[in-house]
Amino acid sequence: MNSGNSARFERKSAPTIGVLALQGAFEAHAQRLRELGAAAVLVRTPDQLTELDAVILPGGESTTFLKHLERNGFFESLHEFVTTHPTFGTCAGAILLATKVKNPEQRSLAVMDMTLERNAYGRQNDSRILETPTKLPGGPLETVYIRAPRIAETGPEVEVLAERDGSPTLVRQGHLLAATFHPELSPDTRVHRFFLDMVTK
Ligand code: GLN
Repeated sequence: MNSGNSARFERKSAPTIGVLALQGAFEAHAQRLRELGAAAVLVRTPDQLTELDAVILPGGESTTFLKHLERNGFFESLHEFVTTHPTFGTCAGAILLATKVKNPEQRSLAVMDMTLERNAYGRQNDSRILETPTKLPGGPLETVYIRAPRIAETGPEVEVLAERDGSPTLVRQGHLLAATFHPELSPDTRVHRFFLDMVTK
């Protein structure tokens, strides 16, 4: 693995990336970001958003996130933030970004033109590790799925960067990135590096 300086941030001040830390898999994301030379802030209150260049919405349970976000105007502040700043949603975080959520229908920030079907891979395939083809340079990507949603539909502005059995698993729409897997749980840092490139460009 490349741990040399070229893989790190070549900026005078590293970007500050928030990781929503209300619940779920936030610590591993913060660790990945720090390894890549970014400053990671664990975000627990809406006023913290003002310090950030970008945000990661981690995996967890999307319904629990919604419950927490419904307090203190957090949902509205986060909605405004993700509309205007680079945002990366993984698994439950991807569900929060989708315009439409199925199984069952639920509220979302509705900024990425896609339909997500929760817990879509069935019990047997609930949690597994797969190598999937990707457009990111460097060959197939290790992808860790934990009670993962499936991206059932995407709009014309959504670019598919990786797939599992013909369904998108890593997608980008302008300043927004979403993965149905957990890149923070693999040693491969390409997905986080790709997001950091989105933040600095
Ligand atoms: N099953 C969860 C949900 O529907 C997502 C799982 C995850 O984030 N690992 O919200």
